[in-house]
Amino acid sequence: MSADPPSSFSPFDAARITKAIRQRIQSLQQAGVTSFHTSAAEQTDLSELQKQLDAIRQDGRPASSTESQTSSVNASPPLATPQTTTQVTPAAASTNSATKVIPTPSSSAPPNNSPQESTAMPSQKQTELDIVCQEVANCTACTELADTRTNTVFGVGNPDARLVFYGEAPGADEDRQGEPFVGRAGQLLNKIIEAMGLTREEIYILNTIKCRPPGNRNPTPEEQQNCAGFLQRQLEIIQPEYIVCLGAIASHSFLECKTPIGKMRGQFFHKNGIKVLCTFHPAYLLRDPNRKRDVWDDIQFLMKDMGLPVPTKSDGVS
Ligand code: SF4
Repeated sequence: MSADPPSSFSPFDAARITKAIRQRIQSLQQAGVTSFHTSAAEQTDLSELQKQLDAIRQDGRPASSTESQTSSVNASPPLATPQTTTQVTPAAASTNSATKVIPTPSSSAPPNNSPQESTAMPSQKQTELDIVCQEVANCTACTELADTRTNTVFGVGNPDARLVFYGEAPGADEDRQGEPFVGRAGQLLNKIIEAMGLTREEIYILNTIKCRPPGNRNPTPEEQQNCAGFLQRQLEIIQPEYIVCLGAIASHSFLECKTPIGKMRGQFFHKNGIKVLCTFHPAYLLRDPNRKRDVWDDIQFLMKDMGLPVPTKSDGVS
């Protein structure tokens, strides 16, 4: 099985990045943060940084040309780090799995799992996630979604999870409860997780966007782009080894490609040191139960690579 390589990343868009930084500053301020330290241990005041960005928006230049102020702008948190995506064929993945069985996070952990970071206490990670969650709750970047949502749906699970399930967008049940995958599709996802011998408390669940699109329409590319910074920060905190993209929208959004989902499943892609598996969305399985066999094949492929015992029972997802 093969798939087209994901397309290259979008060209640098200064206006979009500036807008995203401004939104993050506003969110941080609303969360009570007034300043942060750069890698050079310099303290940067957020209100001063906001002025700099206002000036850039108005005339394309910082308010002052002093080196220190310019470096403050450059020191703002990265939002759109250039990323690389590579594909591992089933054969190669199979070969790799022979030497990469990893019952616990180990030497095959992604490069961004530095020893210093991986020893962070779960409570520290949870605290960092809580800050991002607060920013999401205050976010109004997508006007229509912000006006119509009941709750933002940040994500749920273990901040130290090895495995993240990545879905499409909140539906009516998720919007009402503020938690992803709690409707009928969520119940089927729970069965998949249980068939793996895991619980929701051991993994993490996310969506491409945090607010429900009205009428359950698909999230637009702009809405996905608006929300991408939140996803990136969640993944930087959680540092999962594996991500399972559920359905075409999640797969195409995360891997930035348009390959049919049927051609993407059954193999690993690599992005930022994370092994990415694409499979059908549980909601699709509710419409076409014959596809459960395919999803179970994908999940077994994942379990073998994760070093999890694979049950001999053939109908793991019923
Ligand atoms: S979908 Fe994401 S970016 Fe858009 S309003 Fe909701 S939280 Fe903000």
